[in-house]
Amino acid sequence: LEVQGGGPMPSVQPEGVLNFIAVASGKGGVGKSTVAVNLAVALAQQGYDVGLLDADIYGPSVPTMFGVRDEKPRVNEQRKIVPLVRHNVRLLSMGFIVDPEQAVIWRGPMVAKALRQFLGEADWGELDYLILDLPPGTGDVPLTIVQSIALTGAVIVSTPQPVALADARKGVAMFHNVQVPVLGIVENMAYFSPPDLPDRKYYIFGRGGARRLAEELDVPFLGEIPIEEAVREGGDLGKPIVLAEPESASARAFYRLAEQV
Ligand code: ADP
Repeated sequence: LEVQGGGPMPSVQPEGVLNFIAVASGKGGVGKSTVAVNLAVALAQQGYDVGLLDADIYGPSVPTMFGVRDEKPRVNEQRKIVPLVRHNVRLLSMGFIVDPEQAVIWRGPMVAKALRQFLGEADWGELDYLILDLPPGTGDVPLTIVQSIALTGAVIVSTPQPVALADARKGVAMFHNVQVPVLGIVENMAYFSPPDLPDRKYYIFGRGGARRLAEELDVPFLGEIPIEEAVREGGDLGKPIVLAEPESASARAFYRLAEQV
């Protein structure tokens, strides 16, 4: 697989995809990929046909979170890229084509070209949802991506921390600027409940900030996802928490999120 150049950058949308949902964050490390992965798997568990496109070139963590780090997609006889399938989700990641050490020098147009290949030259088939894990922030790269795809809507991930919320606000503004509907803000790492004190909630990063931001910006609030060791573990082990522990508080929050997209 290699990135081919050339040509203008029209808006691309693979045929047969009904909803194209971006998962975005203003800031790195807030759990954007974790949300994208669990949202995709939760939708698949509900019986939808789901794809996940990991466009986070600076830290493509989806292959790890799906346990497919050592695999590569193949190219079929029609010369189309065939997404990997794991946990009933069709999967392509920038991590499959980008050397992580090279990623830092990638600019928006290069990323858009690679993405165009993953959209226009991949065999996604019929999908109810294609979830797009965006690079964090509102810089050149994420902006070029959201301008080159016909998105149905965007989910913004933030933690309750003021610095994360300030950046989430910029994320909402970016989507408004390019006329992509913001489906809402989801608050990750909202609180911690010790396993031996399940009724207790510690608001480690602050309390209620994302809900207030959503109200202020007049976009839906999509719920609170607690900090749970099993969420991190599921990510590291390639088995998302919505499958590993579907009754956990965070898995239930992810399933509620899936009902709102
Ligand atoms: P981002 O995509 O925003 O950079 P990640 O999804 O890669 O963030 O998450 C960063 C780290 O935090 C990962 O190790 C992930 O497993 C962990 N993490 C994310 N959300 C939670 C959560 N709710 N509880 C525990 N760990 C989490």
